[in-house]
Amino acid sequence: AELFAPERPNSIGFDLHEARDLARIEAARAPFRAHQWQAGPLIAVGVTGGEAHQVLNPADPADVVGQVVLCAAEDVEAALAAARVWDAPATERAAVLNRAADLYEARFGELFAVLAREAGKTPRDAVAELREAVDFLRYYAARGLDDERAARGVFSCISPWNFPLAIFSGQIGAALAAGNGVLAKPAEATGLVAHLAVQMLHEAGVPRDVLQLLPGHGAVVGAALTGDARVNGVCFTGSTATAQRINRAMAKGMAADAPLIAETGGLNAMIVDSTALPEQVVRDIIASAFQSAGQRCSALRCVYIQEDIAPSLTRMLFGAMDELTLGNPWAHETDVGPVIDARAQADFAAYLDQAQAEGRILHRVNAPETGHFIGPAVVQVRGLSDLKREIFGPVLHVATFKADQIDAVVDAVNASGYGLTFGLHTRIDGRVEQVTARLKVGNAYVNRNQIGAIVGSQPFGGEGLSGTGPKAGGPSYLPRFKTVERLESPA
Ligand code: GLU
Repeated sequence: AELFAPERPNSIGFDLHEARDLARIEAARAPFRAHQWQAGPLIAVGVTGGEAHQVLNPADPADVVGQVVLCAAEDVEAALAAARVWDAPATERAAVLNRAADLYEARFGELFAVLAREAGKTPRDAVAELREAVDFLRYYAARGLDDERAARGVFSCISPWNFPLAIFSGQIGAALAAGNGVLAKPAEATGLVAHLAVQMLHEAGVPRDVLQLLPGHGAVVGAALTGDARVNGVCFTGSTATAQRINRAMAKGMAADAPLIAETGGLNAMIVDSTALPEQVVRDIIASAFQSAGQRCSALRCVYIQEDIAPSLTRMLFGAMDELTLGNPWAHETDVGPVIDARAQADFAAYLDQAQAEGRILHRVNAPETGHFIGPAVVQVRGLSDLKREIFGPVLHVATFKADQIDAVVDAVNASGYGLTFGLHTRIDGRVEQVTARLKVGNAYVNRNQIGAIVGSQPFGGEGLSGTGPKAGGPSYLPRFKTVERLESPA
């Protein structure tokens, strides 16, 4: 019980069914409706600066959200030279991280605004994202007090655009709580929210040479941060292919014991048998596949439905999909916002055109004309093996199976090589054990959706091609950021 119940409550958040909470959000966001943020490298010794990148709202490219100055190569070198560990006592580090979490909560209006306009987050996603970011900071702050081992040194934290506040803050918070220095490279698409977060961490008291922000291209910043002997570990969330590249770069340029902590992609499945409750299944599929426009590594990609209930269940699912509201993520009624950029949109459009040409589209929702929208779609497949890669958007694949094929479906899920999330809907108790005992996944969920792992209660991370572990938001995460005790080898 101790492992899963740290002595600190999770963040409270907002109730989007309460008029009072909606009004609070409106009032706090209003000043940032047309604000343009300016961001850039935050380096201890001053900045040269390279090209500037203009940030446009993915839901409305006419809305200029701000500008991010990218690092010049000299900036990366200067940051590497200035980087140092955080030698303050663990209690002080925890106090600073808790103060940063308080600042995040106090400035929720600005964060929600930038999350909507830069990253396409609906209010519901923004609330969840802020809560997770705050929970990560407080959780790791508490965990940092648990053991006295030394920090490893300086960590590179390389984070994705799909959780530009939560995962960004989680990686940094863990590295800092353990006493490391941090060089943070935010995703190219979400430099504004990263800049705000680092400003708040600095304001809370993290020294400027302990935490530096390095926005920029992978080829300039990412390459330098993963192949330099002054870096003692890398924490990465993103694609499996990039993690493999980082691993090779680290092998060439960094000490042999420098850890790579990678959380990567998934080809996540759900199994629905004929005893499942259809209304609940539909609700959970909609959330798992289409919330955050399917841009979660935990999102459901392929649902296996028992053949005899497939016609009625998919009819209900398509009806529910038609009720989804697509549009500007600023609006409270929006269920599904845009995908991150024009390239992602074009990629999904091409994928769906191909499926259409093959006669495999079972259902498709219309998308708004302006902005980078993809209407949620359902594509028929024989099984996960038909998915050649992770489709990181609002596209759900459906396969069917016969009553006696459950074990074969589990084998097919394992055979994908990925192992992140999994969902099971059944009313047969024995089946839960039968299926989950053989599955190779990090997070399996029964009779609920399969996204939105809660910090401290549901440690999150996969196996196989889905990541190295340890799981984020769980008790084994922080120790990986500290030195390992070595046994003396006999002379
Ligand atoms: N932790 C998130 C969830 O449980 C997913 C993280 C990700 O997409 O990288 O939905």
